[in-house]
Amino acid sequence: MTKAPFWTSKRVLELEESQTLAMAARSRALAEQGIEIINLSLGEPDFDTPDHIKAAACRAVEDNYSHYTPVAGYADLRQAVCHKMSHELGWNVGPAQVVFSTGAKQSLINVLLSVLNPGDEVLLPAPYWVSYAGMIQMAEAKAVVVVGSPANGYKVLPEQLEAAITPKTRLLLYSSPCNPSGAAYHAEELGAWAEVLRRHPGILVVSDEIYEHIRFEGTHASIVQQEGMKDRTVVVNGMSKGYAMTGWRLGFAVAPPEIAEACVKLQGQYTSATCSIAQRAALAALSGTMEPTYRMREAFRQRRDLFYQALQGLYGWECPLPQGAFYLFPRISDWFNLPWRGEPLGHAERVAEFLLEEARVATVAGDAFGCPDCLRLSTASSEDKLLEAARRIRTAIEERLVEHRVG
Ligand code: PMP
Ligand code: GLU
Repeated sequence: MTKAPFWTSKRVLELEESQTLAMAARSRALAEQGIEIINLSLGEPDFDTPDHIKAAACRAVEDNYSHYTPVAGYADLRQAVCHKMSHELGWNVGPAQVVFSTGAKQSLINVLLSVLNPGDEVLLPAPYWVSYAGMIQMAEAKAVVVVGSPANGYKVLPEQLEAAITPKTRLLLYSSPCNPSGAAYHAEELGAWAEVLRRHPGILVVSDEIYEHIRFEGTHASIVQQEGMKDRTVVVNGMSKGYAMTGWRLGFAVAPPEIAEACVKLQGQYTSATCSIAQRAALAALSGTMEPTYRMREAFRQRRDLFYQALQGLYGWECPLPQGAFYLFPRISDWFNLPWRGEPLGHAERVAEFLLEEARVATVAGDAFGCPDCLRLSTASSEDKLLEAARRIRTAIEERLVEHRVG
């Protein structure tokens, strides 16, 4: 049967597929054909959900938590988030400002659709997380990309932000620690951003803090802690990364009251509340021991160090040491001249293709994150797999190098 774009909306035809999910699907398809792939495309903890959280979910099933919950989530769960915000960020919010959704992904799109009008501009520090661009497009707004320099660990400077602001700027959207660069902004750096923003009171900030627990130095800092930012910041967070709960699909937004209300209105029309059982599990996660999270963080740190070291010195590999999250994001544009199948590798998407075919390692091209000179490799894999992936990448590149020099 031929494909019938007739039925597909312009909105979807124009939308890019999520490159992280697309690479993960390709890698799964190859694995199903019996081709062994080391999948470093998807940023997903390979740990299982901690036992005390699973036990809470089992109890919830037994106790018949099987009905619709309030759209924003159970009151006690939202209260747990209020406690977390006040305790950790010094931000006193009420439960009406907290909205739970089906993953931080939904929290983000809820907020964007609640705030943006067609033609509004969104400041997008790059590298940015892949889905921000698609979400901005779905909201019919315009992304204004501000690229951080690799020499500055990919962090965007306040003067770069200021230079990109126009009368149409409505929102600033970023993650810290950052997926994909691993950059984690310090309080002083966020203070400098806040100083710029205080001169532009019409800009709302969406701070994606889903990697807050996967930070390898210092403590987590949020822009909401900065002077004048509490009434104009939305903090998005979730259970996927810090609690190894990707499949449970739970995220939350903490927002000024009218934005929280708008998110509830939207969500009430298309997904209602997220799963009742997952919410009971999230309550156990947020109010229980953090020991498993800290253990996972230590494992992620060791993996980062191991993988980072294993690839140091490789031809054309320029990679800042990530301060958080679980990705390496090297600049690899020096590889573009290397020959493969009769022509130069050319661009990052072809490099990702080459690594998949020749090294059997799945990665994601930097284009998806606003940095076409780069490549993203997830470090959320076992140490053995990471070492093997590094060995294979090295061999594949060194072979190309030999051909290049001979040719
Ligand atoms: N923000 C960032 C920066 C992420 O890396 C992810 C991971 N997919 C998400 C949001 C969404 O997470 P989830 O929907 O699994 O909660
Ligand atoms: N956050 C992960 C990543 O960036 C999961 C994939 C996704 O949700 O797109 O790879």
